Amino acid sequence: MSKGILVVVSGFSGAGKGTVIHRLLEKYDEYALSVSVTTRQPRPGEQEGREYFFRTREEFEKLIREDALIEYAQYVDNYYGTPRSYVEEHLHAGRNVILEIEIQGAMKIKKKIPEALLIFVTPPSVEELEKRLTGRGTETPEVIAGRLERAGEEAKGMEQYDYILVNDEVEDCVDSLHEIIASEHKRVSRNRDFISEIQRQARILKKD
Ligand code: 5GP
Repeated sequence: MSKGILVVVSGFSGAGKGTVIHRLLEKYDEYALSVSVTTRQPRPGEQEGREYFFRTREEFEKLIREDALIEYAQYVDNYYGTPRSYVEEHLHAGRNVILEIEIQGAMKIKKKIPEALLIFVTPPSVEELEKRLTGRGTETPEVIAGRLERAGEEAKGMEQYDYILVNDEVEDCVDSLHEIIASEHKRVSRNRDFISEIQRQARILKKD
């Protein structure tokens, strides 16, 4: 069975990466979304085990000590981390595992797991990003300013990713994401065993 690919998706707040990922999971079977552990409080409507596993700081620190997280990062005043067991099980079963994480975590994954695929989702322009953040109508001008400032910081890290995905139309973006991952599966470096087998068979043919 071919191993799944670990896909890290990051992007500016307001880039629509959550929508893109959820649509990808609805549309195609071969993906599993990792649910992170966090110490932040649940927002209204969020459910334990669906958006996050909500834990205390002490519980989170215990997970760090037990090496139960592949990566973790501090974002604002809270910890966020990726549980190791879920990711390993699903990759082994041949599914692509999606991590929706911020840039510090993405860089840790890249260092630890060089074969992970890193994708950065961005709106077509900063003007559009501003428009989307304002258009939500749920955030105060201060919060919007804060998110835009953070976008400025995160933009510096965009070059560390393998692919940049422009989210103009959601459906197009979902299909592009799926195509990128499908192409990655065809990469020579991910097909060493298959290549060796073909080469072995070709050698036998030559002898006859
Ligand atoms: P929020 O509090 O808005 O749900 O998430 C804040 C940020 O933390 C987002 O950028 C989100 O992608 C990121 N995040 C969520 N889970 C993880 C995780 O397990 N590890 C890291 N490094 N970042 C995460």
